[in-house]
Amino acid sequence: MTHNERIYHQARFSTNIQTCKGCGARILWMKTLRGKNIPVDPQLIHVPREREGTLLDKDGIIHRSLAAGQTGWTPHWVTCPKAEQFHQSTNPKGVLQ
Ligand SMILES: [Zn+2]
Repeated sequence: MTHNERIYHQARFSTNIQTCKGCGARILWMKTLRGKNIPVDPQLIHVPREREGTLLDKDGIIHRSLAAGQTGWTPHWVTCPKAEQFHQSTNPKGVLQ
């Protein structure tokens, strides 16, 4: 199974859905290309037009500016209202930096 197929498998079958300890939202754990765990919002995003934003694509790459037609997931720290607490409670090794 390739990295891409594994990511899609995780998303489709939601085996890694958990609850954010900060805000209680449902989050999905993905892996970046470098193998780091990253929490994202479970909803797959389709980018309609070029814009600023943060997105983890299906290849495990985090984009800081988005192109039209791109798909991916929003890292949860972007949308979490308790992002700071979230970082402290789930990021003891600094993997999100
Ligand atoms: Zn949260």
